[in-house]
Amino acid sequence: MSDCIFCKIAAKEIPATIVYEDGDVLVFMDIGPIIKGHALVIPKKHYDPVTQTPDDVLAKLHLVAKRIAQAQMNALGADGVNIMQNNGTAAGQEVPHIHIHVIPRFSDDGHHW
Ligand code: 5GP
Ligand code: ZN
Repeated sequence: MSDCIFCKIAAKEIPATIVYEDGDVLVFMDIGPIIKGHALVIPKKHYDPVTQTPDDVLAKLHLVAKRIAQAQMNALGADGVNIMQNNGTAAGQEVPHIHIHVIPRFSDDGHHW
């Protein structure tokens, strides 16, 4: 999708702080982090919403999200991690290219949903 910001990030047409990349998946830092270390896991190919995303793609996204969560605990010392994924404006989705939020949480971070 030529007008999709996450497709542009995947194509390296606009910059992002990339923390993981393989043939299918890209992970980069959220530009407006809820908590420092907030990362987004996306497929390089455009899919949206979750119900239109192939099972194998969704499985891969979640496997990568699991590894990012582990890195947040090991490297950032996170005490917990929120893994979440919004679908539709009613659910708070702003970017219509499927993405999994991986948000490190700290006992004293003071954040409340
Ligand atoms: P959503 O509300 O769609 O689930 O989440 C979209 C997320 O993408 C938001 O947390 C927002 O801060 C992030 N975001 C939006 N535009 C950009 C961008 O251009 N670069 C990066 N790195 N993150 C973005
Ligand atoms: Zn896209």
